[in-house]
Amino acid sequence: MDDFEFNTLAVRAGHQRSNFQEHSEAIFPTSSFIFNSAEEAAARFAGDEPGYFYSRVANPTIACFQDRLAALEGGEACVATSSGMSAILATMLGVLKAGDHIVSSRSIFGTSTVLFQKTLEKFDINFSYVELSDLDAWKAAIQDNTKLLFAETPSNPITELVDIRALSEIAHKHNALLAIDNCFCTPALQKPLALGADIVIHSATKYLDGQGRCLGGAVVGDSKIVGEDIHAILRSGGVAMSPFNAWVFTKGLETLNIRMKAHCESAMALATWLQKQDSVEKVYYPGLTAHPQHELAKAQQTGFGGIVSFVAKGGKEGAWNIVNNTQLLSITANLGDTKSTITHPATTTHGRLSQELRDETLISDGLLRVSVGLEDIKDIQNDLARGF
Ligand SMILES: *Cc1c(COP(=O)(O)O)cnc(C)c1O
Repeated sequence: MDDFEFNTLAVRAGHQRSNFQEHSEAIFPTSSFIFNSAEEAAARFAGDEPGYFYSRVANPTIACFQDRLAALEGGEACVATSSGMSAILATMLGVLKAGDHIVSSRSIFGTSTVLFQKTLEKFDINFSYVELSDLDAWKAAIQDNTKLLFAETPSNPITELVDIRALSEIAHKHNALLAIDNCFCTPALQKPLALGADIVIHSATKYLDGQGRCLGGAVVGDSKIVGEDIHAILRSGGVAMSPFNAWVFTKGLETLNIRMKAHCESAMALATWLQKQDSVEKVYYPGLTAHPQHELAKAQQTGFGGIVSFVAKGGKEGAWNIVNNTQLLSITANLGDTKSTITHPATTTHGRLSQELRDETLISDGLLRVSVGLEDIKDIQNDLARGF
């Protein structure tokens, strides 16, 4: 379906009807597939003949989701994983070996930092952390053994950006790959591969599902790195997505673009309103002209996203007071849901980080992150105002 536009691909790409000619995508909740003969079984396992044989390796429902997301991101291949974290793990295991070095942004999802520091470093995969937007710092951190640059843009929770094209040029000059966690924007707002990135990583748990139902992840890129090297980690490491979850995500992709537009519109309204509130010290949202990278956001993204963070006056006490006075917003760490959520990063998602790292990444005690859902914006504002 190469010639079709985004909205059409979101609804139709990847669907291969079974011989029942179902209109909506079917779910194939089966662990294995049967063969007509011993010869056929041997040929499938050896890869000499195309076809399904075991759902850890490939499954029609999962393939539908993978092909649809690959079409939306503009990548040759996609592998779906059991969660966003296993997408990151499979990427690292698929492209790196002991002795390799990675340069990563400091402001990444808290659990990603924990995975790098507590697990991957045990296997002699070494990391340097830099300020996301500082291209000179990225350049300076590259070593002879640097194989991968890893960034999230916009970052969680303070919505900082990096120029993906400039970062990809730095990576490629040193024969390193650039991986972008595209969780906050989704392909509806940003296409990292078109900007020069080699690998796109997703937590499908967030906006791709969009209704907070399932855990899942995905990696998109070319057919060698993603289709072979990273897929090999699924085949033998087993971090595969379940067919049911793949079906939920496939249906989520169908409404992704209109949901993202609505999230962006409400987030912009909320950020503008928050700026005028006396109880608010600072607002982080790329759509605000006051955001230091507003121009880059306009150039690199087609929308500013659904995440708004702000610093409440009165530190942790002020922030917790706002959280505890909400009646509508869900106090939960999830984001990208139709339901608005409120999180105090310093004591939850980023609570396992050292104080030093929290200070460096501006995760102050007064910081709150709101994932702006699809409720009426007036009700969201009134709910936050209760604690001001
Ligand atoms: C949630 C999240 C992840 C991890 O995804 P899970 O599906 O929870 O494993 C990774 N990166 C970002 C930016 C996230 O928000």
